[in-house]
Amino acid sequence: MQVEEQQSSLPYNEVDKLQNYGINVADINKLKTAGLCTVLGVIMTTRKDLINIKGLSDAKVDKILEACTKLESAHFMTGNELQSKRQMVFRLSTGSSALDTLLGGGIESMSITEAFGEFRSGKTQIGLTLCVTAQLPKTQGGGEGKVAYIDTEGTFRPDRIAQIATRFQANPEEVLENILYARAYTVEHQFQLLTLIAAKMTEEPFSLLIVDSIMALFRVDYSGRGELSERQQVLGKMLSRIMKIAEQFNVAVYLTNQVMADPGGGASFVPDPKKPVGGHVLAHASTTRLYLRKGRGEQRVCKIFDSPCLPEAEATFQIGLGGVEEASE
Ligand code: ATP
Ligand code: MG
Repeated sequence: MQVEEQQSSLPYNEVDKLQNYGINVADINKLKTAGLCTVLGVIMTTRKDLINIKGLSDAKVDKILEACTKLESAHFMTGNELQSKRQMVFRLSTGSSALDTLLGGGIESMSITEAFGEFRSGKTQIGLTLCVTAQLPKTQGGGEGKVAYIDTEGTFRPDRIAQIATRFQANPEEVLENILYARAYTVEHQFQLLTLIAAKMTEEPFSLLIVDSIMALFRVDYSGRGELSERQQVLGKMLSRIMKIAEQFNVAVYLTNQVMADPGGGASFVPDPKKPVGGHVLAHASTTRLYLRKGRGEQRVCKIFDSPCLPEAEATFQIGLGGVEEASE
């Protein structure tokens, strides 16, 4: 894999550069401890949250923010500048060309793709396949980067990765070495892992972040009825952090989600009484939402549920030894 070669052209400024703008190392380290490793990351953090970082006074935060804006132009850009920034966006192949076509080329970087569907509908298998394609050369539908995988359900299987790697003629050991895996046990832990990953991403090029599943721990940790609004608030914060990671590091984000029976369900005109959990907060955060369902045998059907630029259409794929594959007739 050509993961190491890209390092010289990291698309962001590390907070260490603030030293050249009069910020001392001790304060820079405070930012890093809080998980803020890039200048853009600091700009994306509210003043209120910056002041809450231990050891940073009002005055210091002002000075840091001033230095950041000098270093990073986070204000208006022209349409052409945006266009050239968008040119960095790449798409990761899912392993099935029918599915890739449905997605307009694959899973997009700098954006969040969410897949929801019943158990065994293929959510995790798509994630495992992306773990491999994310590392392939861009000419082969890859992202030439490492993968961060947050697993809340304990369903990540290294031997599946090895099988999928073999299908793509990649070295299984190398592919596994380039996946940074963590099991999350609580919502707070999930948050911490995102902070750690953001720090890692300043060190090495990544192309993909997976959270499988985004909602599972929220449903356990905030299970009471009275806790719903707090849950949605924390979820909103987490998704905002994930979106910032996607934009800052130009990575694709793939989230899986669970479904619940529609509480108002049973209405006969509803074709499938399933809907994703996470409410409006998740609906707004996900750029592309995919609904997966089982078809015949190993076949699975993916439907675009919500996207700013893709038509509502369907594609059929299949799960096999090599991960997500073309559906056979
Ligand atoms: P859950 O909600 O339980 O997490 P999921 O949507 O993540 O479900 P997956 O784990 O992605 O479901 O899909 C499981 C399905 O993948 C199995 O039912 C099986 O059909 C298929 N599968 C897994 N491994 C293989 C394999 N080696 N060869 C063929 N099919 C496989
Ligand atoms: Mg799963």
